[in-house]
Amino acid sequence: MNYRSNWLIFGIIGAVLLAMIPVLGWMLAVGVICAVLWKTFGFREILTEGDCPACTKTLSIDPKQDVIACPV
Ligand SMILES: [Zn+2]
Repeated sequence: MNYRSNWLIFGIIGAVLLAMIPVLGWMLAVGVICAVLWKTFGFREILTEGDCPACTKTLSIDPKQDVIACPV
C-alpha cells in the first residue's frame, strides 16, 4: 500500500512540475500520469486472478508476491 501511495504522490508531484514546462513538459506529464496510474491500479487488476500455467486452474494471486505457489 505504501509503495503504491508513493508512486501516486511522487508521480503527481513530478507531473505538476513537468506541466510547468510548455509543450514538451505537458507531453511528459501525460506520460508520467499514465505510468503512475498503470503502476498503481493497472498492474493489480491484471495479477489479481489468473490461470495456473501448469494445471490451468484459476488462481487468486497476491500482487505483492513475486513467486506464485500453485496449491494443486
Ligand atoms: Zn497449478
